[in-house]
Amino acid sequence: MNDDATLAEIARRQQRLRQQLEDRGIRDARVLDAIQRTRRDLFVPEELRYRAYDDEALPIGLGQTISQPYIVALMTESLELTGEETVLEVGTGSGYQAAILAQLCRRVVTVERIEALSQRAQQVLAELGLTNVEFHLGDGSLGVPEKAPYDGILVTAAAPDVPAPLFRQLKEGGRLVIPVGDEDLQTLTLIRKTDGIPVSKVLCPCRFVKLIGDAAWPDLG
Ligand code: SAM
Repeated sequence: MNDDATLAEIARRQQRLRQQLEDRGIRDARVLDAIQRTRRDLFVPEELRYRAYDDEALPIGLGQTISQPYIVALMTESLELTGEETVLEVGTGSGYQAAILAQLCRRVVTVERIEALSQRAQQVLAELGLTNVEFHLGDGSLGVPEKAPYDGILVTAAAPDVPAPLFRQLKEGGRLVIPVGDEDLQTLTLIRKTDGIPVSKVLCPCRFVKLIGDAAWPDLG
């Protein structure tokens, strides 16, 4: 296929993905637009690019995954972003979720524990010209306190409980979305900080890789 034909095929798949997300109940047009225009194929390994616009999680190497577009859409929509916010993402991974957030809020702070993934994500976001994302390396279960407080926090790895440092770093009225549960199955949970207290809402069952850190699952090597 020549370049024009490839781009036309990508556009067709992006449109189909948007439709699937709408059919599953995603309503925020800003979120749908950001997902439709973002080249997810650039965030996955070359041999999996033909599956980049399927609504599924895919391996990105080093035992990690890029999240399923529906889950990315649901988590992002749950933050109810207007464009003014500072958002913390825990688990940079491929950088795809950070790229979506970057188009919907003022500033994204994203933290990853695996350096090679963070570096690759930085390259892709630079290629896409997304300059409002700050990359950190370290244990995101402890948050990034020097940049707190946050209007929203997305945790894109599964924790046994809500890490206390993350709730502390959330602004009053802020929203935190996190998969909470055991290693095999979790509940995607939206937590709103209301008068300093967490008010929780269950979003859906989900399955993420583990959040490994001092305020999450132990690092077993
Ligand atoms: N948001 C990513 C994306 O858009 O591709 C998907 C993230 S992947 C499901 C989970 C990521 O969390 C992995 O890259 C993993 O290395 C990272 N992770 C696990 N524990 C972490 C921790 N304590 N701090 C930061 N990153 C962590």
